[in-house]
Amino acid sequence: MLRKLTLAALIAHACFSLANAAEKDTTHPFDRNTEDLTAGRGEPPMLGLHWTRELAGSHNARPSSGSPLMTFHGGKIMPTAVTQTIFWGPSWASTSFAGDKITGLDSWYGGHSNSNYAHTTDEYTGTNGSVGAATSYLGHLIDPSTASDGKSTSAILAEVCKMVKSPDPSGNGYYAVYTDVKRGGAGYCAYHSAGTCGGYPVQFAFFFNLDGDSGCDPADTLSKHSQGLAALANVTGHELEEARSDPASPGAWYDASGAENGDKCAWTFGAPLVTLSNGSQWKLQGEWSNAAYNAGTGYPNSSGQRGCLSGL
Ligand SMILES: [Zn+2]
Repeated sequence: MLRKLTLAALIAHACFSLANAAEKDTTHPFDRNTEDLTAGRGEPPMLGLHWTRELAGSHNARPSSGSPLMTFHGGKIMPTAVTQTIFWGPSWASTSFAGDKITGLDSWYGGHSNSNYAHTTDEYTGTNGSVGAATSYLGHLIDPSTASDGKSTSAILAEVCKMVKSPDPSGNGYYAVYTDVKRGGAGYCAYHSAGTCGGYPVQFAFFFNLDGDSGCDPADTLSKHSQGLAALANVTGHELEEARSDPASPGAWYDASGAENGDKCAWTFGAPLVTLSNGSQWKLQGEWSNAAYNAGTGYPNSSGQRGCLSGL
């Protein structure tokens, strides 16, 4: 057993150490590692790490043996997502720090429902039905207390449980926690995970402050968004689509290397800008579609596999 790994060791382990992959789930050496990689016991697993641009190459370009298709692993999907954002950290009280990020992400989530981008994930089914393109957005909450750095998934879950008084009782709540903490040496930009608040299953995601962070920057030069907002929006799409298609243990859709639909198209863009259902436009990396790969209609990912949908 490996306990209390340093973050550097976590990344090295997650990327390269197949032999020591989680005892509980050896099919998930990467994003879905259920091993206790962070501090303490009882951590919810860190699913769907959105790798930095630097690490995404080594992650996604691994020589894969066999089919690139994602397969079903017997679990639930999210038939819908009841989304809410939480802006955590004292900096969010500053209008100069917040800039266009809060209003912009409000617009992003508001425009997600029934967008073509939401439709990129609706081919996937689970024990509780199909992923639907309709989602709803409950708006944002602001917590000016000092934010956690995300290394402990339990700390992020605790923040969600503190801020969300009435989690969606159907278990389709998705709570995205945007912190003011810089990434530092972490090899990922964001992640999603799952837990419970007051007995209700919840999905949640963690995001670093990506202002000026070239390792997590989609280099959006076309929209009018600030760089920090554009960077958050790109990883926001990635985490939400992964949560919808693979929300929690025992897992629903991922490939033989543990990559979820966002991971398989990480840092590849099928269109200059994607337009959501409210007309807002964003530079968003694509999402993997088994159907598009089989039909040869997707755009290629970083391994040249034509299974990515832009959501255009
Ligand atoms: Zn991911």
